[in-house]
Amino acid sequence: MSIIEFRQTSKHFGDLKVLDQVDLSIDAGQVVVLIGPSGSGKSTLLRCINGLEQITGGDLVVDGISVREGRRRLQQIRQEAGMVFQQFNLFPQMTALENVAFGPRKVRGTPAAEARAQALALLEKVGLKDRASHYPSELSGGQQQRVAIARALAIRPKVMLFDEPTSALDPELKQEVLSVMRQLAQEGMTMVVVTHEMAFARQVGTRLIFMENGKISVDGDPREMIGNPPSGRLRDFLQHVE
Ligand code: ADP
Ligand code: MG
Repeated sequence: MSIIEFRQTSKHFGDLKVLDQVDLSIDAGQVVVLIGPSGSGKSTLLRCINGLEQITGGDLVVDGISVREGRRRLQQIRQEAGMVFQQFNLFPQMTALENVAFGPRKVRGTPAAEARAQALALLEKVGLKDRASHYPSELSGGQQQRVAIARALAIRPKVMLFDEPTSALDPELKQEVLSVMRQLAQEGMTMVVVTHEMAFARQVGTRLIFMENGKISVDGDPREMIGNPPSGRLRDFLQHVE
């Protein structure tokens, strides 16, 4: 059953066409890894899914709700899709626990004590129970990103969107973030992940999509696509990221 459906979806910024009539259907439980040159539209594609950007043509349906249906429905879609950014984007004046508890309190109206208990359980899940009362500035980049993942999970999304979640991290800190993501995938979370981590794509991805100029140029099995790239441009791209 498809949980995200792009139907001839386009996105323009002025005259610039960034998504060009994309057709893409993502099923529950898939781990879709999205790759492609800088500027090919990967971030925009993710941002359209949770309404951070508005589509300008076609339609996009998330868990049965069209992003065209208007503001109130958009709030609902935002709760279906949790997003993790390259630059963690934690609230600096809040502790790790407060960062994670904030969303449920605000968007779901969860009582404070319950939100804190849930937040603590999520911090434990990402291996940071003992850092609950630390501020972001007191945490490493890898720890901050794991808090950001816990914060996104706190709204109980059906889909998790990751936009280059390890690109700002030193190599030794990337792994702790990737391993949390691997665990989520194993639990059956539907995920769309923009990343250059091809080992992750091979081991965890159930589907690999190569984007070029706002279009999906190759879509297939990660191991097959990486092992035997069906296009010269994909082969060139892979040689540059690995
Ligand atoms: P990617 O994530 O693949 O690098 P993006 O989706 O960020 O690509 O960007 C695709 C294109 O859209 C780029 O040319 C970028 O400059 C342009 N773009 C992205 N966001 C905006 C914006 N808010 N206003 C104008 N142009 C934008
Ligand atoms: Mg991007």
